Amino acid sequence: MTAAADRESCGVKWCDEAGVHTIHRDYLESIPAESGRWVLGVNVVRPHSSTIGVELTTMPRHGRSTVVRLGTQEAELLHEAIREAVERIQRRAGRDDI
Ligand SMILES: [Zn+2]
Repeated sequence: MTAAADRESCGVKWCDEAGVHTIHRDYLESIPAESGRWVLGVNVVRPHSSTIGVELTTMPRHGRSTVVRLGTQEAELLHEAIREAVERIQRRAGRDDI
């Protein structure tokens, strides 16, 4: 085994990135969606020049990925919206209107 000089681990304890990087990342979830046509990623990120936040990634099986970074306030709004949507679906389960 050679010296790991070229894949030095990051000084930020929670960071999963190796090697030279400008954004610290903690990879949380990769969620397959639409029968595997997409993978949705959720990460905690901290760019060197910015504050910590949440990163959403959409990776289609074919084509370009997109990345959206949210502040904690924005991430909380998204969290509430998704929770509300799921609750509405569950409340309507069994009714004829869905
Ligand atoms: Zn890092």
